[in-house]
Amino acid sequence: MARTIFTDHRSYIVSARMAALIAVLTSGGDAPGMNAAIRAVVKVAASRRVEVVGVERGYDGLIDGDFRQLTRILDDRRDLAPIAEVEGLGGLGGTLLGSTRCPRFFHRDSREAACAQLTGQGLAGLVVIGGNGSMAGAHALASECSIPVVGIPASIDNDIGLTREALGVDTALNTIVEACDRISDTARSHHRAFIVEVMGRQSGYLAMSSAIATAADAVLLPEQSKTREEVIDSVTEAIRNSFATARDKHRVLVIKAEGVNVPTHELVEEVEKRLSDLAGVEVRSTVLGHLVRGGNASFRDRLLAGRFGLAAVDAVLAGTTDMMVGWTSPGSDRGTGTSDPYIRLFPLAEVLEETAALLDGTSAVTLDRMRRMEAIQGILAL
Ligand code: ADP
Repeated sequence: MARTIFTDHRSYIVSARMAALIAVLTSGGDAPGMNAAIRAVVKVAASRRVEVVGVERGYDGLIDGDFRQLTRILDDRRDLAPIAEVEGLGGLGGTLLGSTRCPRFFHRDSREAACAQLTGQGLAGLVVIGGNGSMAGAHALASECSIPVVGIPASIDNDIGLTREALGVDTALNTIVEACDRISDTARSHHRAFIVEVMGRQSGYLAMSSAIATAADAVLLPEQSKTREEVIDSVTEAIRNSFATARDKHRVLVIKAEGVNVPTHELVEEVEKRLSDLAGVEVRSTVLGHLVRGGNASFRDRLLAGRFGLAAVDAVLAGTTDMMVGWTSPGSDRGTGTSDPYIRLFPLAEVLEETAALLDGTSAVTLDRMRRMEAIQGILAL
């Protein structure tokens, strides 16, 4: 008998020939690479003769049963392939399925409704692509629902535990580096200091990595927990030292993460006041904001999306649940191996524990990043 996927505004007949049907959704903050991950999930599933339905608008669409077919059946060959939209948008930023923050999903009755949608449609598994909040949602759902749920980490902030990088980080860093290069061109021509604010409310990873890549003169991270005065003093000193006659730098670049506790416009005002004795020094700021979220996914994000997609689909089809795929080193003894030596599966509970430690600064990864950052502060200032 054919299965029917009903939504509030469309319906699809799914072939009874196929062995299984799985679902994929994107949730939380969008990140470049999400579309590449959707493409990978659909293509890998098709190669396993499994159809994929996309869930619109993240967990909202899951609760409401807003599903649509992402696989097409090639009638003549009885084979499966992605629909044209999945193939066409695979390299683009954003997400073709849409994404939301869904407060309803924090409540058990809404998650039960979501589970009923999955079981009611005879789905064999769900792949959740999203950030750390979305992984918490996936963990809650997996704990309460019999359908296998596997997560793919996607977050430009790189604030998800147990993966070297999440999808979107590499593209976001390339965008920041390009923006800083452009700002440096104009700053150098006018002998100016620029404070560039990048996204990262709790995690300074983007600021730290881009500061090294752009040879910034100073960097401010939320994990450093500096007081307001310390933040203002450190930027003032960086600019004063750089523009000292002996150094005679032509541009000063300070990269500040969004989560640092002094608003960027106030920082500019305070620093300018303290530098009033230096003739002709101008301090400007640029907030890169959402610019960094968009854009075509980089080579590395697309490659990572392909590898994550392969491991995630094979995991759900094997009945694995409550896990996330993560990028790790070959030979790592944590988690469960996959067919790819660089990709392992980690229990979502452990991912969430490590994520919390990353953000409160107690993780060995954060402590190591901070140590390395302290060690290079003096080099950045040269
Ligand atoms: P991101 O996934 O980018 O970190 P959010 O933190 O906003 O974004 O989380 C996305 C969604 O995941 C939330 O709107 C909510 O629907 C769901 N979610 C987050 N945390 C939980 C939780 N503890 N329990 C259930 N659902 C959650």
